[in-house]
Amino acid sequence: SGRWAKAMAIVKELEDKCGTPITRLRSVADSMTVEMHAGLASEGGSKLKMIISFVDNLPTGDEQGLFYALDLGGTNFRVLRVHLGGKGKGVVKQEFEEVSIPPHLMTGTSDALFDYIAEALAKFVATEDEGSHPFPGRERELGFTFSFPVRQTSIASGTLIKWTKGFSIEDAVGEDVVAELTKALKRVGLDMRVNALVNDTIGTLAGGRYYNPDVIAAVILGTGTNAAYVERATAIPKWQGPLPKSGEMVINMEWGNFRSSHLPLTEYDQALDAESLNPGEQILEKIISGMYLGEILRRVLLRMAEEAAFFGDTVPAKLKIPFILRTPDMSAMHHDTSPELKVVGKKLQDILEISNTSLKVRKVIIKLCDIVATRGARLSAAGILGILKKLERDNISSNGSQKSVIALDGGLFEHYTKFSSCMESTLKELLGGEVADKIVIEHSNDGSGIGAALLAASHSPYL
Ligand code: ADP
Ligand code: MG
Repeated sequence: SGRWAKAMAIVKELEDKCGTPITRLRSVADSMTVEMHAGLASEGGSKLKMIISFVDNLPTGDEQGLFYALDLGGTNFRVLRVHLGGKGKGVVKQEFEEVSIPPHLMTGTSDALFDYIAEALAKFVATEDEGSHPFPGRERELGFTFSFPVRQTSIASGTLIKWTKGFSIEDAVGEDVVAELTKALKRVGLDMRVNALVNDTIGTLAGGRYYNPDVIAAVILGTGTNAAYVERATAIPKWQGPLPKSGEMVINMEWGNFRSSHLPLTEYDQALDAESLNPGEQILEKIISGMYLGEILRRVLLRMAEEAAFFGDTVPAKLKIPFILRTPDMSAMHHDTSPELKVVGKKLQDILEISNTSLKVRKVIIKLCDIVATRGARLSAAGILGILKKLERDNISSNGSQKSVIALDGGLFEHYTKFSSCMESTLKELLGGEVADKIVIEHSNDGSGIGAALLAASHSPYL
């Protein structure tokens, strides 16, 4: 019928506009490399902030003692306690707790958010073993993973540039987040100092390096997306300080804010961006990360309902609610292998209150999931190629048989299997056989929390 043809035209148009042929991916990678150079050359030189992390030494494996970490960067935060055994002994014991952040605190005041966090941390500290209290005259030591753009001023201080991923707490912007946390720790009477301020990419890089010395970069695919890597200190023209002894510096790219005329953008992306909390910003993040994939799908389905009566004569009311369709639900539908596509049917029923969908309709939904996820996964691979190009590790002649390991983490990478496997196969496709064998994608499970604890250890004032 005419309606079905109209619906299929919308699908076809989406597929065309989301297309990521290899040539386009190469252009994205090249543009990423160019922006990396520009962001390293001068402050504000690029959409890529290329933030100097002040981490010039990554963990070696010799770290020793009891350390805490706090990981804040999305809808949950985690508190960790890690007992490091020292040389050759690794992590002796590791405990953590996950706490969800009530939505009203994500858009409230700085004090309210940090008080909530400090209280949760205090509760966790109270479960410490008898014998593990710090020596007299010493405070407990913490690594703080804070995964929002921060202008780092030292290893343990940095001012918040802006919020992302649905957070919007005006009075915290421009403040030193370590000072904010430290004040809250005082208010709740917790005796603890912050040794290191990092974000999840740097934590993941540090955690990855602790276990594997070939780790050179880390990428997060979770609620948001970002990457960090190890740069030669002499390749950072904007760095004014003394050259670090190691000759290296970890750079926090803030690649979520990347944009380029080569990115395949659709009308849905444009509307999503315009209606977001941060219009015009985080464009790459808005087409590849977990916060947005399900929402893009919802927008396509809404147009199909409105213009092609895809779900019948009336437009399902729930379909009009922004962010009602979450990426984990999209992923569950996309991975549905049952002959009747039962999961798709059930998700449509439970979330959107659309009943009795035909198999034909369900198949179209799978197709839409595939278009949206494939675009995100292939662009993620192009971003990684951009980093490898910057480091000249993208060709066969470079570094002999030296392996380059990229530590990956985040709920999207971990749970959305079709996304991660597409990303990995696209990277192989981009690199070509021989080079592809030297590049390894490694899942660094929870590296970001452990990494912060490791960096707290290597930056301890008591060393
Ligand atoms: P954060 O990025 O907030 O620190 P995570 O790394 O745990 O936290 O990532 C959580 C995000 O991962 C969720 O917001 C969601 O978008 C995505 N995610 C979680 N589970 C799944 C899943 N089963 N399928 C697809 N995406 C998922
Ligand atoms: Mg995280």
